[in-house]
Amino acid sequence: MIPQNNPHANYLGIKAEIDQAISKVLDSGRYILGEETAAFEREFASFLGARFVVGVANGTEAICLALRACGIRPGDKVITVSHTAVATVAAIEMCGAVPSLVEIDPATYTMNPASLIAAMTKNTRAIVPVHLYGHPADVEPILKFAEEKGLFVIEDCAQAHGAAVHGRKTGTWGRAAAFSFYPTKNLGCLGDGGAVATNDPGIHEKLIAERQYGWDRARVSRTEGINSRLDELQAAVLRVKLGQLDESNRRRVQVAARYSDSLSSLPLSLPVVLPGRTHVYHQYVIRLSDRKTRDTLLEFLKAGSIQTAIHYPAPVHLQPFYSDRFGRSDSLMETEKVCETILSLPMFPELTSTEIDRICDRIHRFFRVTIKDGFGSHGSVRI
Ligand SMILES: *Cc1c(COP(=O)(O)O)cnc(C)c1O
Repeated sequence: MIPQNNPHANYLGIKAEIDQAISKVLDSGRYILGEETAAFEREFASFLGARFVVGVANGTEAICLALRACGIRPGDKVITVSHTAVATVAAIEMCGAVPSLVEIDPATYTMNPASLIAAMTKNTRAIVPVHLYGHPADVEPILKFAEEKGLFVIEDCAQAHGAAVHGRKTGTWGRAAAFSFYPTKNLGCLGDGGAVATNDPGIHEKLIAERQYGWDRARVSRTEGINSRLDELQAAVLRVKLGQLDESNRRRVQVAARYSDSLSSLPLSLPVVLPGRTHVYHQYVIRLSDRKTRDTLLEFLKAGSIQTAIHYPAPVHLQPFYSDRFGRSDSLMETEKVCETILSLPMFPELTSTEIDRICDRIHRFFRVTIKDGFGSHGSVRI
């Protein structure tokens, strides 16, 4: 079976270094907010070109804490997309704010800046663009809109470690940016982890307090806070993995290029990279003509021992917990259509050329078989 992602292969590739980094923490006797976390925060800030990074427990809390540090309060409205991990929207609600869900650009699957104006209300305070699949959202018009309306922009960078717009990294465009280090992300630890990046010293101080009971540096609580810390073991793992991030992102780009070369003659849409953008291919997402073709291809690949995934099978506004409040919406038509037809192929740096070719061959075979058997009319494919 070729898996859709493979954090274990990544670990095995650097096992000696990871094991050594873990033993060092175990022997140090310091397990929370010690030297490893401080060093990782400095190194990741330097990688991004940001002034500050604050390690937190996971990506969802990173978004929530970033919003709170910007002063977002219960009842405030925050604009984001419905085509994202539910975590983005859950994080907005976690800090008591009310999400307003807007449309995506179907070419890049990221926030359509033209949809912002209709979502504006007098309570709107922030925008959370998501750099989905590793392709940057259209940050320039989004920032321009935010500036005109006096809104904060908090980037959701959970899928975009190392992505960039005109060479400037995602995570340095907004007032703050949230990262997840869930094991399958481009930069992933061996458990949960997250971080917030910012250039703003005031927001940095607030984040330091918020992640730990509202404590200031003298351990006096002067503000509200929770417990959301990055632990030393994960920070040590992340330091090793950060050293490999550029190389593993380059490898993802090569995997994507091999897919695109092979699949370009087929009746499906390939990922696009807009000019000036650095795409880091957290996912390689193709789009089929309709749901039936997508679902049948997924089954056909599974029968050939190739695992794929759908990111995401339903937009947030149609998930049961949210649908009562949001429901179907004419303003989210592209979002709804996209969810029915997308498919994420296997994507991880250790994927071999032989495996990529096997996946592409099987996709080619699917189209040969479906065209020959007139698949469109009866909907079944011989395997
Ligand atoms: C993974 C992810 C998150 C949440 O991160 P966790 O670390 O799982 O809490 C948020 N937004 C997006 C777009 C993600 O992919």
